[in-house]
Amino acid sequence: ELKPVKGHVVFKDVNFSYVSGRQILKNNSFEALPGQKIGLCGPTGAGKSTIINILTRYYDIDSGIIEIDGQNIYDVKQESLRKQIGVVLQEPFLFSDTVMNNLKYGRDGASEDECTAVAKDANCHEFITRLPKGYDTILSDGGSNLSQGQRQLLTIARAMIADPRILILDEATSNVDTRTEKNIQAALRKLQEGRTSFVIAHRLSTIKDAHKILVINQGEIVERGTHDEM
Ligand code: ATP
Ligand code: MG
Repeated sequence: ELKPVKGHVVFKDVNFSYVSGRQILKNNSFEALPGQKIGLCGPTGAGKSTIINILTRYYDIDSGIIEIDGQNIYDVKQESLRKQIGVVLQEPFLFSDTVMNNLKYGRDGASEDECTAVAKDANCHEFITRLPKGYDTILSDGGSNLSQGQRQLLTIARAMIADPRILILDEATSNVDTRTEKNIQAALRKLQEGRTSFVIAHRLSTIKDAHKILVINQGEIVERGTHDEM
């Protein structure tokens, strides 16, 4: 069992391949202190999402060490690990269920009052109340009756309800209007407060305020520093 964590993440000489013979990550080493924001950037196919996939143990690494608060992630139950790591992905994942149940899914036992309060915090409440049945509206087909920006806002609210110490954000290259984009950025900033976050960014503006930016190229960390240093 992984104890409730502070969010200190360490990668030491991590090597990884999806299939043997084709190494994807090469000797990745880095550290994230509790509450820090780590930005990941680099060309498509560089390995950014892969770094994040292996942190949740979605795949097993070939060699090296990954630690959270000094504990090797392979020494703890996968389920307890995933409870500590919130994920907001490029493709938002929603259930074909009511809006409220999609929010409640963030954490077992979350109350409706809490979900509504968080939805307000995440700039969701307004559009939800404009849906035909408000919070009782059923999201058909994983949310096809919502806009892409609205789906993203809902998944951000759900991550807030889950309240993990570590956060993974795989930024979408979405075409949303300026106002929605502002709402999303504001909600993401709130979500990141007090959590260690890994942000895969396609725009440098998203990670300008990161404590550390890692530039990934062909599975290697080729540059690291703050936005001003780079
Ligand atoms: P993008 O900016 O396009 O999201 P990325 O930096 O996130 O790119 P990854 O998805 O980590 O890139 O992919 C890194 C490499 O691993 C690519 O060469 C890709 O083809 C390969 N890869 C990714 N997922 C798998 C998989 N499930 N099985 C085999 N190879 C994969
Ligand atoms: Mg990716």
